[in-house]
Amino acid sequence: MSFDSLGLAPALLRALSEAGYEKPTPIQAAAIPEVLAGHDLMAAAQTGTGKTAAFSLPLLHRLAGEVRGDGQGRRPIRALILTPTRELAAQVQDNLRDYGKYVRLSSTVIFGGVGMGNQLQALRRGVDIVVATPGRLIDHMQQRSVDLSKVDVLVLDEADRMLDMGFLPALKRILAAVPRQRQTLLFSATFAPEIKALAQQFMREPREVSTTPANTVANTVTHVVHPVDAANKRELLLHILAQDSRRQTLVFSRTKHGADKLVRHLEQAGIRAAAIHGNKSQNARTRALSDFKTGRVTVLVATDIAARGIDIDQLPVVINFDLPMVAEDYVHRIGRTGRAGAEGQAISLVSHDESGLLRDIGRLLKTDLSINNVEGYEPSTPLRLDAGAPRPKQQQRQPRSQQGGGQGRPGGNGARQGGNGGGRPPSHRPHGHSAAGTGESTGSHKRRRQRRGPATNKA
Ligand code: AMP
Repeated sequence: MSFDSLGLAPALLRALSEAGYEKPTPIQAAAIPEVLAGHDLMAAAQTGTGKTAAFSLPLLHRLAGEVRGDGQGRRPIRALILTPTRELAAQVQDNLRDYGKYVRLSSTVIFGGVGMGNQLQALRRGVDIVVATPGRLIDHMQQRSVDLSKVDVLVLDEADRMLDMGFLPALKRILAAVPRQRQTLLFSATFAPEIKALAQQFMREPREVSTTPANTVANTVTHVVHPVDAANKRELLLHILAQDSRRQTLVFSRTKHGADKLVRHLEQAGIRAAAIHGNKSQNARTRALSDFKTGRVTVLVATDIAARGIDIDQLPVVINFDLPMVAEDYVHRIGRTGRAGAEGQAISLVSHDESGLLRDIGRLLKTDLSINNVEGYEPSTPLRLDAGAPRPKQQQRQPRSQQGGGQGRPGGNGARQGGNGGGRPPSHRPHGHSAAGTGESTGSHKRRRQRRGPATNKA
């Protein structure tokens, strides 16, 4: 299947070809015809599947086909795209700009944490497409600085995460402000009951497309678990990073404080690192992300919510410095690697007290987790993956409650234990002998070298 055969406008095809997209991803092939035909759509798709283009392309096609004014020369907002985070909103707009560079449509992005001035100006000038986070959009609605009465297409991107973050009341207010006669597209990693309830209330006979079963990660990702004592994690991380000092690496930390501490430690070791989390200003987050993308920093340390939706192309490796409290967040973290068919590696540093979390992840993924000791970093207490496996003490706040959102869904479904973990004695391998030089055992894993930016760390 080609983009051509989907019936998209030549101006869009040209932009896609320049972006190097050769053929639609499965979610694009399934979703685009439904949207072009005017149906409401529920799409089960996680980050990394090409979901943004799956809604952006048909939306641009539709809007470009019928340019409108409001009689006073101003363009009414005809499409509204809601996303859970500012980063995702900014990235969706980036993608819209890329895909829409040969069509005459304007878009703007609206999110909190920055002044209202530019947003007000853009809205006053008139835009065809608004990408927004719910909170700031509500602020504009209250100030009457945004008119949603001409919206033809509404997109809820990462709807599950918006609900997790407590945005349901905001969504309901926004949905009440857009016309009933509209096309609604809902993208979500899972079709949990609350998502179905939302769809039932606000969508009209939606078509459903799903190309990745919920809660699975790309099968191009290799999962590697390194058991290690909590006290030795930082040294092990340095050891792993030293295997390829030029490789861009995203590291996940469960807490904001932990992320900051880790960055300080990495910097002391001569590694250029930056943190991205909810306590950072929007400018600091944007700068950290852009420094990472350009290669000015090689390690980005992120918390779960902050990292949600960050679009970094084909990251070869993601490291979980500690495991997420909610197994599903592992899926979201790992969505940053193995994208669009590329191979990726997910490395988790797991201490004994995280055994219970690891067991949940194994159950959820139903895929092999390769458990390997790294020589010199063997833990004093081995991992336990049986029913009584311990969990970290709850003094650390859970990622979702940090945002005042809902409860994490229970991880696991009693399915078979992930992979060759369990009681298997860990294998020992010399350093530098494996895929990432980390004692990884999967012999078939092909090493992928995606070097981005200059070799800046390890001064
Ligand atoms: P998304 O799931 O929207 O976050 O997209 C994941 C990544 O895949 C982004 O970096 C896109 O630029 C890229 N991408 C999306 N569609 C395609 C395609 N058809 N071919 C190649 N790359 C794509």
